[in-house]
Amino acid sequence: MKTKKFLLSESQMPTAWYNIVADMPNKPLPALDPRTKKPITAEAMSQIFGEELVKQELSTERFIEIPEQVQDLYKIWRPTPVVRAYNLERMLDTPAKIYFKNEGTSPAGSHKPNTAIPQAYYNAKQGIKYLATETGGGQWGSAIALACQYFNIDLRVYMVKVSCQQKPYRKLLMNAWGANVIPSPSDTTQAGRDILAADPECSGNLGIAISEAVESALAHGEDTRYCLGSVMNHVLLHQTIIGEEAIRQMEMAGDEPDVVIGCFGGGSNFAGIGFPFIRRNLCEGKKTRVIAVEPASCPKLTRGEFQYDFGDTVGLTPMMPMYTLGHTFQPANIHAGGLRYHGAGSIVSQLYKDGLMEAVAIPQLETFSAGMMFANSEGIIPAPESCHAIALAVREAKKAKEEGKEKTILFNLSGNGMIDLYAFEQYFNNKLQDHELPESEIRRAIDELDKIIK
Ligand SMILES: *Cc1c(COP(=O)(O)O)cnc(C)c1O
Repeated sequence: MKTKKFLLSESQMPTAWYNIVADMPNKPLPALDPRTKKPITAEAMSQIFGEELVKQELSTERFIEIPEQVQDLYKIWRPTPVVRAYNLERMLDTPAKIYFKNEGTSPAGSHKPNTAIPQAYYNAKQGIKYLATETGGGQWGSAIALACQYFNIDLRVYMVKVSCQQKPYRKLLMNAWGANVIPSPSDTTQAGRDILAADPECSGNLGIAISEAVESALAHGEDTRYCLGSVMNHVLLHQTIIGEEAIRQMEMAGDEPDVVIGCFGGGSNFAGIGFPFIRRNLCEGKKTRVIAVEPASCPKLTRGEFQYDFGDTVGLTPMMPMYTLGHTFQPANIHAGGLRYHGAGSIVSQLYKDGLMEAVAIPQLETFSAGMMFANSEGIIPAPESCHAIALAVREAKKAKEEGKEKTILFNLSGNGMIDLYAFEQYFNNKLQDHELPESEIRRAIDELDKIIK
């Protein structure tokens, strides 16, 4: 009998996160205060984020211990399985071996609780009673709601108004885990009131929701902080448990991946699966290809520029060095909501600049088609974001067949698609399309950025 799933016992779960900054030949450039253009101090950052999280944000230590209480909560669903996709291999008639790491098994259905739990833990330990955050599609909001529940933190989630209406189940998940979900723009903040005064029908966007969440956190006082589900160094750090587990599981399988793949929004699940494998390239002379997959309609790595930009669409956050399409870039309304972000975090951007990882952009229809192949062979409905990783795994497997070569592929299934079935409904009804992205649209947003920076 062939083994299908490679499972670690709880006692084999890694007990430290991996901080790739320790091994990077060129360290990421610092985030800058937009007013002074000087590096942001830990003190300034600590007014917004939990103290220990700020320490991790700036840390150069190679491994950071996972607190015992966080390990205990991880064990509700971790270690997650690595699965050999025999049925998908057969469907593709490929000599390639395809493995996937299933992060869709968490209570919230994605990898995001890997960072939500430590973020709630460190804030609670510091005495924080309230957290504020924003959510677009609702995946981050539901993960942090789950985490805050464990630590008796009151959570306020500013959810883009139009998503609230389109994705009622995500909102209900957050409510079930005790969070207060506020459709944004709202009348609870000055930013929201100003926008509503100008346009009472405004349906909201992520930039407005961030402004409201940050304002709400700052206005609330000493026992309140803000939190974020991707992009930042500490978020990427927490996700590395994925790759640390996967390395052990690939050893159990007796296989060495030639290619490791993750879909790419702000970089957290990609970093999670990829950074531990990049460590082996940097420190052990391995030659694993580590590839990020972004949507063709939001191609910050493959078509963006490396420069300082804001993390949000309004221009409130510190300026970070990143591959970016410009923070005013408006991606097409594709159905992988979690990948519609204009920039890449500063660690990933530096790694990509230094040629230590690769990136590919794939159009929407190809990703849904690959997602359906996966659902029909392996039986799991993937999140629309994860379909991007599957699509590249399929491309690589087809190439292996054409070349008659053996190859081992590992991709991260960042989430399941059970709450995103409406996206598949649109796909089945031929309502989805590929969006051409003209160079002029990218130029416009980057030229606009140039003007602001200078
Ligand atoms: C949020 C999300 C993503 C994109 O975010 P990253 O930080 O790039 O990982 C991808 N997949 C799923 C399932 C998500 O919920």
